[in-house]
Amino acid sequence: MEAMTKDLWVFVETNEDGTAKNVGIELLTPGKLLAEKQGGSLVAVILGENVEKAVNMAGRHGADKIIAAEAPELRAYSTDAYTEAICKLVKKYGPTSMMIGATNNGRDLGPRVSCRLQTGLVADCTALDIDEESGNVAWTRPAFGGNLMATILCPDHRPQIGTVRPGVFKKREPVENRAEIIREEIHIDPKDIRTRILDLITYMNSENVDLEGAEIIVSGGRGVGGPEGFGPVKALADALGGTVGASRAAVDAGWISHAHQVGQTGKTVGPKLYIACGISGAIQHLAGMSGSDCVIAINKDPDAPIFDVANYGVVGDLFEVLPALTEELRKD
Ligand code: FAD
Repeated sequence: MEAMTKDLWVFVETNEDGTAKNVGIELLTPGKLLAEKQGGSLVAVILGENVEKAVNMAGRHGADKIIAAEAPELRAYSTDAYTEAICKLVKKYGPTSMMIGATNNGRDLGPRVSCRLQTGLVADCTALDIDEESGNVAWTRPAFGGNLMATILCPDHRPQIGTVRPGVFKKREPVENRAEIIREEIHIDPKDIRTRILDLITYMNSENVDLEGAEIIVSGGRGVGGPEGFGPVKALADALGGTVGASRAAVDAGWISHAHQVGQTGKTVGPKLYIACGISGAIQHLAGMSGSDCVIAINKDPDAPIFDVANYGVVGDLFEVLPALTEELRKD
């Protein structure tokens, strides 16, 4: 399919309360740069039933245009309805590329849309650029089990579609909403939707770890020495109102679940504060947390590479440093 415009689309997924999911807003940041390089507009595409809050958020975070498509069938995510809606819009407007956040729904939607449109999909990207020579989007993603980073171009397919990990990009500072808003009424035949949402139940358990959205993360590595070593890590995280992260070494040892893993084969995070405790700073760990605003490293080895990326470093035993820090914080 030929692209009719040079526009770059970001699919902005909505939450149940009609707000935009973080990743959709984050993607507007690289989207703006890439759209400018491509000579097109940055378009946020929002589907749902009541999407005003998400429209406003997208407008305030840099979208030039917003396509807001509302229909009762789009109230909650379903593969059939969302695929149908996106494909109809793509055929009508002809974007050159489209980014989708790699949430559970985004990972479902991207492949279905790309298959329906007979184009390609680059899944789970962690970096984006424009290839100067060809003008195509250069999608970078971990490959071969995370052992190398592959940059992929899709020269023959339009739109070029990719899913992008949450937490990789930072949201822009909000500005006045000047976006052109295009309202679309999408007709979706209820008969075409093969699944029906009967009820939405929010299920929270210990595995529901929102590292990507966390503003403060306290992570433990092999240096914590065992599952009980996460006690002081968690105590500090609680005192700061933060979330517990971990290195792969700690996860592989079975001390904490994979839901907490930060890094190339874990989650990509971008908190305001990242405290690395007993983590050496391997390149694969740094790949997941180097977008943090401020990094504090606590390690007893003064030569640990984590100190190269840390804003503040404490050379010492985490079992002494963490309880002392937690106690100080609890005094306030
Ligand atoms: P180590 O490297 O063993 O470091 C432990 C640190 O703790 C040391 O620096 C030591 O000085 C310090 N220490 C020990 N005791 C104390 C103490 N009492 N007080 C203070 N400091 C102490 N790793 C990830 O983290 N995330 C990933 O997603 C990831 N993906 C990978 C993908 C691939 C394909 C490969 C090959 C590797 C991947 N890794 C990943 C693994 C990575 O290469 C490292 O092995 C891992 O990050 C090391 O974890 P660590 O820093 O906790 O352990």
